[in-house]
Amino acid sequence: MTVEPVIPISALEHFAYCPRQCALIHCDGIWADNEHTVKGARAHRRVDSGGHRRERGRKVLRAIPLWSEQHGLSGRADAVETGDKGVCPVEYKSGVRHGRTADLQVCAQALCLEEMLDVPVPYGFVWYGGPRRRVRVEFTPVLRNDVLEAIRLIRGQLLSGTLPPAPDDSRCTQCQLRAHCLPGLTGARRKVDRYVADVVFGCAS
Ligand code: SF4
Repeated sequence: MTVEPVIPISALEHFAYCPRQCALIHCDGIWADNEHTVKGARAHRRVDSGGHRRERGRKVLRAIPLWSEQHGLSGRADAVETGDKGVCPVEYKSGVRHGRTADLQVCAQALCLEEMLDVPVPYGFVWYGGPRRRVRVEFTPVLRNDVLEAIRLIRGQLLSGTLPPAPDDSRCTQCQLRAHCLPGLTGARRKVDRYVADVVFGCAS
C-alpha cells in the first residue's frame, strides 16, 4: 500500500517558484541560506513568538498550526485574524512579491482553516516587507484549483523522487539553492542530450 505523503504548506511556495527547488528541499532535504532567507528568518522572529494581540479591531493570533486531512496538508499560519468579518490568514514576506507564490501558500492556509473551523475563508493577506505593503488575496475558484493542482503535482514529486530539469532563468540568480542545483550545468546537459539524440540517433525533438 502506498502511503500518501502529507504536503508541507511551505512546499507550495517553493513549487510555485521553481518545481526543481521544491524537489531539492522536500525530496532531497537540501537547504541553504542566502541573504534573502536570512532576512526572512529575522523578519519572522516576532511572528514566530506566538504572541496574540489586537490590531485594527481584530484579534491577531500568531504562529497557528494548520492541517487538512482532506487535502493532506500541514503547516502553520504566520497569523490568523479573527473578528466580525470572519477569519483570514496572513502571511509575512520580508521581500517583494514573486508572482503568485505567496498567494498559493496563503490560499492553502485558508483551505486548512475552512476544514478545521468549518467556516468560509474567502480572502487573506500577504504582507511584503520590501514595499511595506499588505496585499489582499481573494481565494477565487481559479486560485483554489491551482492550489489543488500544485498539491497533486508535489505529491507526485514526493512519491516518484524525480528531480525536474533546471529552468536556468532569472529565478536562479536569487535562489538559495543555486550552489546545490547547478542550473547552468543541467542546462548544458540538456544540450548534450539533444545533441546525442539529434546527431547520434537522428531523433531530436
Ligand atoms: S537554481 Fe534555479 S533551477 Fe535551481 S532550484 Fe533554484 S530556481 Fe530552480
